[in-house]
Amino acid sequence: MLFNRIKGQRGALTILRKAVTEDIPSHSYLFMGPDGVGKFTTALYFGMALNCLDDDPHSRPCGKCSSCKKMLSFSHPDFIYLFPTPNYEISPTGEIKDAKNLSEYESYLKNKKVSPWRYFYFQGNTAIRLDCIRMLQHRINLSFIEARYKVVVIEKADYLNVHAANAFLKTLEEPPENVVIILTSSRNESMLSTIISRCQKVNFNRINLQTIEDELFFYGVEDAAQIKMIARIANGNMEKALNTWEAQSSETRAKMRELLDIIIQGDDLSFLKYAEHYKTSKSLNELSEVLHYLIVWLGDVVFFLESPEEIINIDMTAELDKVAANNPYLTDMCPELIVFLETMLKRLEGNVNPHLVIIEVYNHLKPCIRGRI
Ligand SMILES: [Zn+2]
Repeated sequence: MLFNRIKGQRGALTILRKAVTEDIPSHSYLFMGPDGVGKFTTALYFGMALNCLDDDPHSRPCGKCSSCKKMLSFSHPDFIYLFPTPNYEISPTGEIKDAKNLSEYESYLKNKKVSPWRYFYFQGNTAIRLDCIRMLQHRINLSFIEARYKVVVIEKADYLNVHAANAFLKTLEEPPENVVIILTSSRNESMLSTIISRCQKVNFNRINLQTIEDELFFYGVEDAAQIKMIARIANGNMEKALNTWEAQSSETRAKMRELLDIIIQGDDLSFLKYAEHYKTSKSLNELSEVLHYLIVWLGDVVFFLESPEEIINIDMTAELDKVAANNPYLTDMCPELIVFLETMLKRLEGNVNPHLVIIEVYNHLKPCIRGRI
């Protein structure tokens, strides 16, 4: 019974459980509430519950039957998931031709499946565009493949641009039989009122302090003082709590800090010593983690001046101060650097020698992060 894994949203779950046990879901729902409180996960579990094969409706979603498993891995043919992306030019049948775009799209989905709380940084402005809605309309009108309900989740529905929102409205007005559409949004004030009024609203709350503390403990944080501090910083946002913990907890992160210091100092000699560690293929996974932390840190650089409350690496503001003072252009370069690091991560997945990768990373990042000192 996976609904039990959703914490602090009793009101929303009461509505959804009833729809599942009585088998009378609405055509469309709008899950409204702050970021990081479980709207997407609840939408996914709700879709799973509607199609779950467990005999007892109160046990749905079981998470174990073939239907649940396919939904969990995003491979169910009757599950359609839309979210804001850069302009990918998706065909009505859902193909993305450009290889770089496709690879970014797949990285996003992988991240969402494996560690959904982790932030993902796209290159370029994101929106839900007309091509996405065309794909949706094409897919919901196809005959059913195996499910009782076709489930559509549109995450961050406030990112529907004007053309897409107008086209989508037609689908909402005349939805095909047995299609359940779930929109999620933390900024429903910027959505078309005609869309909002056609959906059943389900409210999600900020998660209370105690629940976040309990969840951090569940995820393996043992230090009581650390739990309290992170829960306070997170301010009701579970996603932020997990990101903050992950950023603070690991030894690999210490390796990232060491690398960053060397880059900021421009200390080539120390780098050569540092890179020695990555001469064995055993170090490949560790280097992947280091690059992941670097990506999160570059995300912090972007937030540092505009919205410092979003920063994940709160204990590293001294480094942020230093690079912001040395290089005012770094913020603009971050999206490109993040894409570069994603490419390096891909190469590591392909078993490239980690020593070569770390040298390339150093040579690429040093001039960008240090600026022209
Ligand atoms: Zn199931």
